[in-house]
Amino acid sequence: MREKNNKKTAVVIGAGPAGLTAAYELLMKTDVKPVVYEMLSQVGGIARTIDYKSNKMDLGGHRFFSKSESIMEWWLDIMPLASANNSSNVPTDKNVMLIRDRISRILFSGKLFNYPLRFDSETFSGLGLKKISKIILSCLRAKAFPIQHERSLEDFFINRFGRELYDIFFKNYTEKVWGVSCKKMRPDWGECRVKGLTLFSVLEHAFTKCFGADKKGDVLQKKIKTSLIEKFLYPKLGSGQLWQKVADLIEEKGGSIFLNYKAVKVNYDNSRVHSITFDSVERKQSVVEEGDYFISSIPVRDLIASMNGGVSASVREVAEELIYRDFICVGILLKKLNIKNKEKGSNDNLISDNWIYIQEKNVSVGRIQIFNNWSPYMVKDKDTVWLGLEYFCRKGDKIWNMPENEMVEFALNELSLIGFIDKDDFLDAKIVKIEKAYPIHSGGYDNFHLIKNFTDKIENLFLVGRNGMHRYYNMDYAMLSAMEAVKNISENKKCKDNLWQLTL
Ligand SMILES: Cc1cc2nc3c(=O)[nH]c(=O)nc-3n(C[C@H](O)[C@H](O)[C@H](O)COP(=O)(O)OP(=O)(O)OC[C@H]3O[C@@H](n4cnc5c(N)ncnc54)[C@H](O)[C@@H]3O)c2cc1C
Repeated sequence: MREKNNKKTAVVIGAGPAGLTAAYELLMKTDVKPVVYEMLSQVGGIARTIDYKSNKMDLGGHRFFSKSESIMEWWLDIMPLASANNSSNVPTDKNVMLIRDRISRILFSGKLFNYPLRFDSETFSGLGLKKISKIILSCLRAKAFPIQHERSLEDFFINRFGRELYDIFFKNYTEKVWGVSCKKMRPDWGECRVKGLTLFSVLEHAFTKCFGADKKGDVLQKKIKTSLIEKFLYPKLGSGQLWQKVADLIEEKGGSIFLNYKAVKVNYDNSRVHSITFDSVERKQSVVEEGDYFISSIPVRDLIASMNGGVSASVREVAEELIYRDFICVGILLKKLNIKNKEKGSNDNLISDNWIYIQEKNVSVGRIQIFNNWSPYMVKDKDTVWLGLEYFCRKGDKIWNMPENEMVEFALNELSLIGFIDKDDFLDAKIVKIEKAYPIHSGGYDNFHLIKNFTDKIENLFLVGRNGMHRYYNMDYAMLSAMEAVKNISENKKCKDNLWQLTL
């Protein structure tokens, strides 16, 4: 595929945040040349941005926020903040980060509630006295008589928030995301989902907001739990813009990136990988890429399936039993929305939310992104409204298999049913399907240690990233795992425990 020179090479599989971070870090911190292969025609992985007739959509909006200062700095080194003197928030530079206010609400029983919770007139009038009394009583009950042995995610939520808040804020959306009743999910999923959030932190946050403290806090928001953060960084043209910039830098600095190549075979003996075979998606030809190191960010199930011989039956079985949740994003372009901002002086044509969680049983849509509010540059015509409807599903199920025209009609009907739109305002639509968007921490995951023990023994193979390690990681952790792999390569470390023990 490429000319050989004396430099060592690392073959990186997958050009999502983890693979690109690994390649960039190798170039910045080692003498090893990265050669990246990606099966899609675009870099960025799940964090890529789709350009549809100059309207840009993330596959689910991607907030750039991390409790790790080094990750925040890394992003800002790649793409600096839009200049502060540009107070209208209309930066003329193309490659800049914007600081965005996080505004999100929950649609529950036909009403919109602020998330995170706020003690304001909207919350009180929306909930009503009866509901508020029930919330208080159910919280007191949860505190006084907690469920002794938490057996399910439902028990986890009720113990921390009480049944009423669990119903409003978590139940329906969580069940849509994972496709399983909260009664059947393991309690430890709660920690992944709400990251240390408790009723106390929600109330403390609501009071702080109410009395105006922390309003001018910087984007690092050190004292605020991740689930409650109020500001985040966002590239001017969508999350994929940053990852495309990283890819450009990798090539400028001497790395290579090959798009439309799918890893199909890992050639290895017991202790080392020698090469990987990639099939060209477009030209139907294969290449065999040799290397000194191999960094994989592709789904563990696929990686193990592509290994030639030498994999024990038990490791194969665990890998085959790893399960995932798939995802469809339906971009809907509209003349306007039916719902309006209540605040006086606000822009009447558009509500301010970045996204809205849909906790309604009568519709399948889980979350609605309003791309105009992530960055005004996501939309070609600023007088239109560009939504992203998120459907969590399973490849092959009814929603996944729906023909595109039916899916658009289905999405429009749901938007109309919840009172968001008038169908006459529809202009255009774009559907994107993403397989394995969520690695699920059950099924084969219960015996994941067998896979870890097996791959850890292959000394020049490093598993990184979300599906690469089968962990429910956001971009920051996916990147940190890649950084640890590069550290191991540069320090010639044999033990890979540091990759699996990441905490922020
Ligand atoms: C709806 C949604 C919203 C999200 N929002 C946020 C957010 O707000 N903030 C945040 O930080 N994170 C968010 N995330 C998580 C974020 O998308 C992931 O953490 C991140 O994309 C993981 O990066 P990765 O490189 O590990 O994996 P991926 O992004 O999955 O990249 C893996 C790459 O490998 C490629 N690949 C797979 N198999 C092969 C093969 N056989 N050969 C070659 N290439 C292959 C894929 O095409 C892909 O490009 C969100 C995720 C979802 C689903």
